[in-house]
Amino acid sequence: MQTLIGLEIHAQLATKTKMFCGCPTVSDDQEPNTSVCPVCLGLPGSLPVPNQAAVQMAMRVGLAIGGTVPAFSKFDRKNYFYPDLPKGYQISQYDKPVVEGGSVLIAAAGQPPKKVRMIRVHLEEDAAKSTHLDQSDFTLVDFNRGGTPLIESVTEPDMQTPQEAKAFVAAYRSILRYLKVSSADMEKGQLRVDANINVLAEDGRKTPITEIKNMNSLRAIERALSYEIKRHTTALEEGSESTLIKETRGWDEGRGETRSQRSKEIAADYRYFPEPDIPPLEPSRATINELARTIPELPDKRLQRFMDEYELAPKIAGQLVADVAVAEYFENVVSELDGWAQANNKKLTKAERIKLIASAVNWILVELTKHLNKAELRMQEVRITPENFAEFVTIVQAGVLNSSAAQVVLADMFINGSDPSTVIKDQNLAQVSDTAVLDEAIAAVIKANPQPVEDVKAGKTQALQFLVGMVMRQTKGKANPGLVLEMLQKKLKS
Ligand SMILES: [Zn+2]
Repeated sequence: MQTLIGLEIHAQLATKTKMFCGCPTVSDDQEPNTSVCPVCLGLPGSLPVPNQAAVQMAMRVGLAIGGTVPAFSKFDRKNYFYPDLPKGYQISQYDKPVVEGGSVLIAAAGQPPKKVRMIRVHLEEDAAKSTHLDQSDFTLVDFNRGGTPLIESVTEPDMQTPQEAKAFVAAYRSILRYLKVSSADMEKGQLRVDANINVLAEDGRKTPITEIKNMNSLRAIERALSYEIKRHTTALEEGSESTLIKETRGWDEGRGETRSQRSKEIAADYRYFPEPDIPPLEPSRATINELARTIPELPDKRLQRFMDEYELAPKIAGQLVADVAVAEYFENVVSELDGWAQANNKKLTKAERIKLIASAVNWILVELTKHLNKAELRMQEVRITPENFAEFVTIVQAGVLNSSAAQVVLADMFINGSDPSTVIKDQNLAQVSDTAVLDEAIAAVIKANPQPVEDVKAGKTQALQFLVGMVMRQTKGKANPGLVLEMLQKKLKS
């Protein structure tokens, strides 16, 4: 059996104003119906004017995925009657979208990279938000969201597993974030994914296409598709595929199943016709070339460059580039590290530089990430400047802090945005590497622990670790443990 999955993704564009009027785009928690005007309320006589920033964002997405931005595209009216659509139609694009074709490279876990072909990307306006209160016979409508610019991207049915669909959404979301055209946060509804799925049997029988909606996370996509594949496959196995219908089903996260919502509309149901109030989009070659120059380095390219330039393993480089904010933070730290070396007249060898960078990567991906997750913050919100982070990495590398003191310093930096040298000084955390001080502590420990000392002399390494521990305690954890070990070994050798 072969599964075919195609996706339709709506992304909210990060413009300041709405798609066809000057109302600010606002978040869902703003007082209802406060960012509205005659245009986005669909009042008679009002005229829509396309948002140029939104148009450019859509074109940039097209260029980033290697699609074509045609010299002619137009807006159409998609008619349906629903309270969250005040005009009785949505301004969208039908047969002449702003972007045609293109592809996105995906890498599902443990699978080789694969190209997913794109059919189109088009611009449209979002509907308003309706709320049905329990046991009421009315619906409340908040028009703040109505008219927010969206791009809808449609793929070919090139994905065959839930994991591939999930990988596509992750890759596409990453591209949108690199382009800074959308925050693309699924939980906040800024990225909404619908899937079309059907299954083909070897003997040519196939199930009708089901559209799945209401998947609000990557995990939900994976679960909903797995559920649906099983439903289709079972029907084919039992020979009951004719009982399935072409329909739209909603994912119910709580029950872990999809449920029928309605039979699927076809284009004719919407009675599309050209929007007479908006002239077509006719970008010149020069405009498109100019937009092409604004496309930043995208995740694929950056991954390869990180591997080449910083000698990072593919998995580590992948973790860094997955979130554009993390990738940018990392590179800012690297540039601070280079600046620090220059300012201190330190000529780092290539190997030394790579080692320093590897240490920075480790602190970012492990410890800093831990702090972020715990505080439920995103990388954009981190209070540690790249400069302070770089200083911290050089301090740790220089052996000024032992590992537990380093954790204390980083935690303070994370909470207070403080600079590491101040924290070390204020809390007296610097590692003691002064041999005179250590000599004194070691002498005291040797005197107080005659038996372990004898054991060490008899060749018991465990006793040596014990003595190191005692010296650490004597120095309140600040001794340089490596140096203590070395000094103890020397002293107890004879
Ligand atoms: Zn408006």
